Amino acid sequence: MRDINNFLPFWEGFSVVSIKPDGYALQIDLIPQATRFPTCSGCNKPSTTTHEYCQRLVRDLPILGHPVRLNVELRRVGCGACGKRMEAVSWRDRYSRMTRRLAEAVIQTCRRLPTLHVAQLFGLHWDSVRLLERRALQAELDKRPVIRPRRLVMDEFALFKGHRYTSVVLDADTCRILWIGE
Ligand SMILES: [Zn+2]
Repeated sequence: MRDINNFLPFWEGFSVVSIKPDGYALQIDLIPQATRFPTCSGCNKPSTTTHEYCQRLVRDLPILGHPVRLNVELRRVGCGACGKRMEAVSWRDRYSRMTRRLAEAVIQTCRRLPTLHVAQLFGLHWDSVRLLERRALQAELDKRPVIRPRRLVMDEFALFKGHRYTSVVLDADTCRILWIGE
């Protein structure tokens, strides 16, 4: 008989203290492994001083269909360069209270399903899903090279049997539409 722990996802640098039901969800308590020195989340340098212990709720991928809430004990460290900072956690998403793998799964699913369905599927708030969607879109836009058009073409065409006109501005070299206005 294999231990249930063999099937649980891996939370690098942390140990599972307990797993208990929290309504339909599972709450998993995690503590930092005692043998591991914390590193500063600002500069990733190891730190030997712990100022305090904090609890953070982090969402993770569902296990056997049950939403997962991680109750993580984190160390606030004293860093020579950054001051008091929370310790770095390799699997935690930087901008939201969830794991990287959950954030990634949500973004992937958003490409195929409407936001509301994704929120229901992962047991997340609609707002959290929208935020991730927007962030992924922005990241993709940032990756695109900025092309500055050198020559412009402007055209006008009639709408509603010539009662209204629409102007179109194109990049003459790429034929990309830059602007459409009535
Ligand atoms: Zn630091």
